[in-house]
Amino acid sequence: MEKENIYGFSLEQLTAKMIGLNQSSYRSKQLFSWLYKKDADSFDQMSDVSKAFREELKEKFSLDLPKIFVKRFSEDGTIKLLLELSDGHKIETVLMHYVYGDAVCVTSQVGCNMGCKFCASGLLKKVRNLKVEEMVGQVIVMNRLLKEVDPSRHVSHIVVMGTGEPFDNYDNVMSFIRIANSPSGMEIGARHITVSTCGIVPGILRYGKEGLQVNLAVSFHAPIDEIRSKIMPVNRAYPLEKLIPALEEYYADSNRNMTFEYIMIKDLNDSDECAKELAKIAKRVHAFVNLIPYNKVVENDFERSSNNRIHYFHNYLLSQGIKSTIRKEFGSDIEAACGQLRARYEGK
Ligand code: SAH
Repeated sequence: MEKENIYGFSLEQLTAKMIGLNQSSYRSKQLFSWLYKKDADSFDQMSDVSKAFREELKEKFSLDLPKIFVKRFSEDGTIKLLLELSDGHKIETVLMHYVYGDAVCVTSQVGCNMGCKFCASGLLKKVRNLKVEEMVGQVIVMNRLLKEVDPSRHVSHIVVMGTGEPFDNYDNVMSFIRIANSPSGMEIGARHITVSTCGIVPGILRYGKEGLQVNLAVSFHAPIDEIRSKIMPVNRAYPLEKLIPALEEYYADSNRNMTFEYIMIKDLNDSDECAKELAKIAKRVHAFVNLIPYNKVVENDFERSSNNRIHYFHNYLLSQGIKSTIRKEFGSDIEAACGQLRARYEGK
């Protein structure tokens, strides 16, 4: 019988497993603590579990994690990993170092089918969804490496903003978030967890009803259908007339503000009219706008907006009472932008 990966189970699921093995329900909390608080890398370390039961655990469960295939360290504290999964597929995981902590950018799918024209990740089509343990594994592997580099740092924030569309792998992503957020497990606060979507309406509506204090980011990128459909095919399925009411409903359900990510691309989405429409929509749905200088990828002809244009947008949004920042760039010396490293190793 194939072993089950223990990092794939929520506390409730592990409790059910323990009861099935004639253990007290308290066992699962003990195991969670070893896995996520004490970061055990073998069952033998679990000293308060009897030797006999440790042997049983070894027979039934594995502690397999993705393997580090390539690692790169940037001067600015960014770490980028290319990880190899058990079936040989490779995924990227990035760590971003902020003044307030360390955020790991988690990949949710091998490849992506959303087809956004500006994105390097989507150059490789979706192969499969990531399993729960493969998302949990990204955090654990990154956290271990981080502690080796600097024992005073640890993963404090999670953004599901790596390759893939999280709401196209909804159930696994939510199970992963519940493990990350569990007070008995990693204990990463819900307000420190963000999921980023390109605008999958049913996912947004479900997410707002989860009853968690987690954050939503929307890759907005254009406030006018004609432009948005040109660069994001998802807009044809969920145009603004569907997306905006869904975001209003999300806000009403969750009472949480959201973030719009807005890549600034020269002569495409950086006109005065775009600034005006963007401000109107952001106000309507209570969004904070993160302006992102476009990260040039060789596979397309888009150019970054001028700094003047970016600052014009920023100031205009502020003048309209919309909170806005210009995103700091990370790890440009190590190809840390989405998909660059994987695309290179997969021969694109
Ligand atoms: N599918 C999800 C999460 C992955 S994309 C989503 O669409 O949100 C993560 C973020 O990186 C998105 O906001 C995406 O639009 C942005 N991004 C992709 N390519 C980029 C590039 N070349 N420059 C800057 N940001 C990019």
